Amino acid sequence: MNIKLSSLLKEVARINPDHALGLEKLSIKNVNDLLHHFPTRYADMREIVDTNTLSKGQAITIYGVMEKVSVRRSFKGHIPMTEARVADNTGVIRCVWFNQAYIGKMYPDGTRVKISGVIQEDSKGFLLSNPNIERATTTVPESAESLFASTTDTSFLTPIYRETKGVSSLYLYTLIKKVIAGGVLDEVIDPIPEYITKKLSLPTLKDALMYIHFPKKESLTIAARKRFAFEEIFYLQLKQYKEKVEAKHSLAYPITVNKKDTQEFIKSFPFKPTDAQLSAIDSILKDLSRKEPMGRLLEGDVGSGKTFVAAVVSHAVLQNRAPNGQSLQIAYMAPTEILAKQHFESFIKYFTGTGVEIGLLTSAGCAKFPSKSDASNHTPISRTQLLKWLADGRVSIVVGTHSLIQKTIQFSNLALIIIDEQHRFGVRQRKALASKKGETRKELPHLLSMTATPIPRTLALTIFGDLDLTVIDTMPEERKKIITEIVPSTKRTETYEKIRKELIAGHQVYVICPRIDEQDEEEAQKRILKSVKEEAKRLSDDIFPEFVVDILHSKMKKEEKEEVMQDFLDKKSDILVATSVIEVGINVPNATVIIIEHADRFGLAQLHQLRGRVGRREYQSYCYLFTESKGEITQTRLKALVNAKNGFELAEADMMARGIGMLMDGKQWGMSDLAMEAIKNPKLVEVARTEARELLDEEGELRRYPDLMKIIEDREKVHME
Ligand code: ADP
Ligand code: MG
Repeated sequence: MNIKLSSLLKEVARINPDHALGLEKLSIKNVNDLLHHFPTRYADMREIVDTNTLSKGQAITIYGVMEKVSVRRSFKGHIPMTEARVADNTGVIRCVWFNQAYIGKMYPDGTRVKISGVIQEDSKGFLLSNPNIERATTTVPESAESLFASTTDTSFLTPIYRETKGVSSLYLYTLIKKVIAGGVLDEVIDPIPEYITKKLSLPTLKDALMYIHFPKKESLTIAARKRFAFEEIFYLQLKQYKEKVEAKHSLAYPITVNKKDTQEFIKSFPFKPTDAQLSAIDSILKDLSRKEPMGRLLEGDVGSGKTFVAAVVSHAVLQNRAPNGQSLQIAYMAPTEILAKQHFESFIKYFTGTGVEIGLLTSAGCAKFPSKSDASNHTPISRTQLLKWLADGRVSIVVGTHSLIQKTIQFSNLALIIIDEQHRFGVRQRKALASKKGETRKELPHLLSMTATPIPRTLALTIFGDLDLTVIDTMPEERKKIITEIVPSTKRTETYEKIRKELIAGHQVYVICPRIDEQDEEEAQKRILKSVKEEAKRLSDDIFPEFVVDILHSKMKKEEKEEVMQDFLDKKSDILVATSVIEVGINVPNATVIIIEHADRFGLAQLHQLRGRVGRREYQSYCYLFTESKGEITQTRLKALVNAKNGFELAEADMMARGIGMLMDGKQWGMSDLAMEAIKNPKLVEVARTEARELLDEEGELRRYPDLMKIIEDREKVHME
């Protein structure tokens, strides 16, 4: 039969229901998916049959799963030690860590880890003593070299794939062999222009697929991986740059900035803007004065005052009118309803007396400022009414959540979209939001995207290649530095007493329990829930019985979450025990303490962002990093946080040490494990970026490269869903 890349697997092989389920879990539907399911490493088959072929003194690196973890004291009774077995699909190796009882807690049974060390031998056989251990956030090894078992004789090597229940590496390998034997590679056309693969000495797609699944020579397989890493970044860059060009070629509402007006408006604020805020405003207003639509990403730590920037920019825009004489409009999207409400209230403060009418659009209800009867207040209105006023242009600023504003709203002249903490908002979405029923607007709205996630440069260049970047790198001066302390278990009690003083003074406290990294989503969720609930119970029963404790976790429904947050904001609760769901932009200025349990389990950038939940006013605030780990690495890492000025250095460090998974969910960006790994390599990103830009500048529509065009278009579609 004639096998095509697009053929469904069930058309080309007999697949039993168990296998079908497993393949689905691995997102393998057609032949192309299968061929792009790359090995995570290569193992010496001889190892699989007999672990005794390991030899004493051999240096090995294993990706596997922790089993039978136990913490005890050594036979002499004074050295605490962790024992465990690490299993991969080639076998099992015994591991011992002396003086590192915390390893047992940090890496419980079932944790995916990467360990490396030198094989030793004792009376019970081979073991690894004090091997290096780290959480395997992705299954992809860091360097191409470590892909290979230590043998150099590749003729014995077999690819090891990411597996799932019912679908083993061997099964996948056999299936791949089968489709390739069926001649599918003859059909493979390389979407990447030949001149690029030649120039960069990368194998063609067809060769690369052979090299990666059938390791004949280490150098070839490494070259194949390089190609696929390049390919991913290249496609991403191409798509982003295409968007950028498309935006630049669109028409924008022309904005004339009146400097004097803007300065007057800035003066009306109760504080003096920071230089960083002023320079951000300056770049944004320059963008707006151009003929092309703006596309800018504003990055700044939590509390750096991005809302102020958004307000000044909005004000400048609203000094202009549409060509048809009507007033211009602005949509401001927040990640949660509470934040939408907070932004609405801030904007009312800022725009009182300017005559600007502002709407709030949430699923819980709508409101408008000013109210007819009270010019300094807002009033609830019906959704229908608000939609009508947006359609006829009477309301010029509408604040809402991401999801609400994306749907079915009609604007009369939407000139600017401001979006908080949602990273991706493409040209198509901008167009769709600005369009009226049955009619596409000529003008593409300006876009100001804002985020507090510190994003390292290589990552920003790739996933935000379509946006220009502005960073607010300083905080308002009057803000007190948050006192950050690393708290070992011996100091818990005394720390709780310090916290009690804050509570008695009427302030509020966050307690964060770690996210638990586990492959099994459901299991992980259950455990998170348990730890949040248990901790809340412990705090309210034993430690702070005189205060109200509430909980917040990711398993709760959106409305439930909003309700809990609202209660905390209204001070109906004093202590909020939560998972890291509170990371995104919530603002409770009365909260002055954040406790982070198992602080060592979090990425530094994430800790930094969590810490930003407090210190939002002039009050002195505190961040307590609770940790049982006394390891030097933990201490050094956490100390970096105590001393850090901003999130960027931390993000960079995190990305290098622990991968992009620590910063954000790469999958959400259509990034494979391979791409996430590749982004750490600035040279590769730079080359892919240059090639993508040159190609698009030269070719415009990519008509000569239909396969490439199709890939890019398919990716655009995925993001629209
Ligand atoms: P972000 O959105 O960047 O996290 P916000 O815009 O919510 O930060 O600002 C946090 C708080 O700081 C707000 O209460 C705001 O009024 C205040 N603020 C903003 N800029 C300044 C400034 N330059 N000086 C003092 N306070 C400021
Ligand atoms: Mg904000």
